[in-house]
Amino acid sequence: MTTGPGHVGRLGLLESALGAVNLGVVVLDGARRVVLWNQWMARHSGLSADTVMGRDFLELYPELRARRVDAAIGQALRDNFPSLLSQTLNKSPFALYSSPATAARNERMQQAVAVAVTPIDIAGAPRHCLIQVHDVSVAVGREKLLREQTLVLRSQTFADGLTGIANRRHFDVAMEKELRRAKRNGAALSLLMIDIDHFKSYNDHYGHQQGDDCLIQVAAALTALLQRSTDLLARYGGEEFAVILPETDADGALAMAEAMRAGISALAVPHLQAGGAERHITVSIGIASQDPDAPVEVATLIGAADRALYGAKRAGRNRVLAQTPAPAGVAGGPTPDLCAD
Ligand code: GH3
Ligand code: MG
Ligand code: MG
Repeated sequence: MTTGPGHVGRLGLLESALGAVNLGVVVLDGARRVVLWNQWMARHSGLSADTVMGRDFLELYPELRARRVDAAIGQALRDNFPSLLSQTLNKSPFALYSSPATAARNERMQQAVAVAVTPIDIAGAPRHCLIQVHDVSVAVGREKLLREQTLVLRSQTFADGLTGIANRRHFDVAMEKELRRAKRNGAALSLLMIDIDHFKSYNDHYGHQQGDDCLIQVAAALTALLQRSTDLLARYGGEEFAVILPETDADGALAMAEAMRAGISALAVPHLQAGGAERHITVSIGIASQDPDAPVEVATLIGAADRALYGAKRAGRNRVLAQTPAPAGVAGGPTPDLCAD
């Protein structure tokens, strides 16, 4: 003797449970007619159970004919073969809406659809097919947000916080990449090292805040002078900037450096403590170019540009000087014909 709810009671319980679950439940018979349509489906499709009961499922959703869902139903009913539809390929197969507001905007919910054969153990009953639909809009939205945040974070890790231009890390990565590319293509590549003249006394006189503003102004002016999308201006450290100029030989680099030197001088940012003749902010620039016939390492190129910058400072500042990077085992030296001030 069994106790507990009888057959009718159990059915009622089942119906209530199916009505309460937070997913769409549809059962089709062997002729693809709807025999079960839970409340979730009614709520999100706008079609009540009474309307759809007994109707051909693909008449309700004609757009699904000959699509993946259609094939999955066929496989389930014919071959007893369950399918799980790919989330990426079948984002929103059914006209279902998360809320009346999204329905009004015709924004379908993101759906995860599982189509499977129902294990109905009533003897002699033909095969049925169970379709489950999950609303994954929130999860998909969260994923999208995470992807966007990752992109922002990645761009922030490669940007200088003060000036917004590339930071030292970005420079290091780009330098390795561009030098490798130049060697592979047998192309020239130049590097400029730019240092603001007498910046310590600027800070001492005008204050650190105005020093920061000056750095922002200089970075913006240098950015405006870049000519190709592949040129990269970076804050190398403190008041020092670096410019990578792919496919640019020594002559091209000298022209760019001179334009930058003149451009910063033309800003006419007052610096009464500059010393010497200048009464405004100026920069000194060191250049090193890799000749395609004499490839060098990153450190060698940076070393040469640094030495050239040091030479420009010693020669009186507000000027440009080039230094030939020495290939392994050969001593480099200044290139006197490549100077400008
Ligand atoms: P030189 O012409 O030889 O380059 O002289 P300098 O005074 O520019 O050189 P030095 O390296 O002695 O001083 C650099 C100064 O730059 C030191 C520091 O006060 C200033 N500085 C470095 N980073 C920042 C920054 O982020 N903000 C501000 N406001 N100042 C900075
Ligand atoms: Mg300086
Ligand atoms: Mg410096």
